[in-house]
Amino acid sequence: MRECLTNPQYGYYTSRSGSASGTAAAHSETEGRVDQFGRKGDFITSPEISQVFGELVGIWFLTEWMAQGRRKSGVQVVELGPGRGTLMDDMLRTLFQFSEFMNALEGVWLVEASSELRLRQKDTLCGSDARIEWDTVQGCWEAKSKYSAIPVRWVEDINLLPEDETKQAMPLIVAHEFFDALPIHAFEVVPPRLDDQQLENSQILGSDGRPMSRRNLASKLPQWRELLVTPTQRKFGVGSAIKTPNKASSSPEAEFTLTVAKASTPNSLIMPERPRYQKLKSLPGSRVEISPESSRYISDIAMRIGGSNSTPDQQPSGACLIIDYGPPTVDQIPINTLRAIKSHRIISPFSLPGHADLSADVDFGALVESACTANPGVECHGPVEQGQWLLSLGGRERVDVLTRGHAAKKDEMETAWNRLVDTGPRGMGKSYKVLAVVPEKGGRRRPVGFGGDVVE
Ligand code: SAH
Repeated sequence: MRECLTNPQYGYYTSRSGSASGTAAAHSETEGRVDQFGRKGDFITSPEISQVFGELVGIWFLTEWMAQGRRKSGVQVVELGPGRGTLMDDMLRTLFQFSEFMNALEGVWLVEASSELRLRQKDTLCGSDARIEWDTVQGCWEAKSKYSAIPVRWVEDINLLPEDETKQAMPLIVAHEFFDALPIHAFEVVPPRLDDQQLENSQILGSDGRPMSRRNLASKLPQWRELLVTPTQRKFGVGSAIKTPNKASSSPEAEFTLTVAKASTPNSLIMPERPRYQKLKSLPGSRVEISPESSRYISDIAMRIGGSNSTPDQQPSGACLIIDYGPPTVDQIPINTLRAIKSHRIISPFSLPGHADLSADVDFGALVESACTANPGVECHGPVEQGQWLLSLGGRERVDVLTRGHAAKKDEMETAWNRLVDTGPRGMGKSYKVLAVVPEKGGRRRPVGFGGDVVE
């Protein structure tokens, strides 16, 4: 997943021509650049569907800033994986209406692996004439926002965001359709190799009639095995293929497939051996998908928001909103969710590597666990369904105001809004979920959209 999406030369997001070669017709071109997003691209996201989405995300951060004491300085708005920059643009345009907040806003940080998309975001947020320059002090790319000339800065990974040396920062972090692009590992439980007699015998004995050594016993218990990406049998004459998830009948032919590793891999010995996966281990055939990269990102976020016990002057401050698709309940661990999208159609994730978008369901339960483990100074709210969250933030009322001013576009605006909140199979209202990470308050303060109200 990592190579297919962000390899500097061939990655779907990172390569200049990677997603275009051979299939340029399927992409929209802006000023000679290949565009993955929008109707002519491969997929469309909520902020690209309706401006109301980004406006409400901006309002949500404003309510957090208010609830956490209307800080006078040190506010930083951070986005992970900003795509075309549309969400951040809608957020900043909205926040710009609130001068007290804007006075407190010190900068915008964007975490983006793709240099092409960084330029695209610069055009959206700073204007096509604005210059993007290397800031030697901060060690990042920088340009001035078209709103109040606030600095907009780019880094490639969250761990390159500067640490808050003043201990006074308030990071407001949004990640929309970002975590679904972070690599997953998949595992399956394989049954123990026991014969019938051994199975009947509760004390497992070795062939010499004596209790088995720990080493032998281990192989006689169910084990996690990693699912590995292997070239197809047809193409290279190797690998005993198992059925791949998300098959699509009209897919271009897959060059790879998933196979169960014949033996333990370092990942299978470490990753699924956490309490969350323990129950499944006794059920051969069970699968799990785990994203260590997602745990790393959410842990970093929790460290930035949750303050530090050892440094009492670093008070918990800030908020994070994660919006993505995931399983219906927080306890459900994703399985078989790796998918590829090309020209708005789901295709096999094993065809067209580097030319199609790859994603997997976000394990919100794992994110909550990782955040709270990394820093007990944070608490999580949700995930709640996107439709419900947008409605509770006043989205319907906002659409009414917008359509009154643009009668000619009323139908278009209504259709776009309905797509965001529709809970049916074609809508995004139910399948997309919203999770908030905020400073720990023993669950007494609920953020807006998660059962709470605006705090003046
Ligand atoms: N949030 C945007 C775009 C989502 S697409 C929207 O909703 O429209 C995913 C975004 O994350 C792209 O900008 C992509 O380049 C970026 N991205 C994907 N993997 C990344 C990684 N490992 N590190 C940094 N950025 C990444």
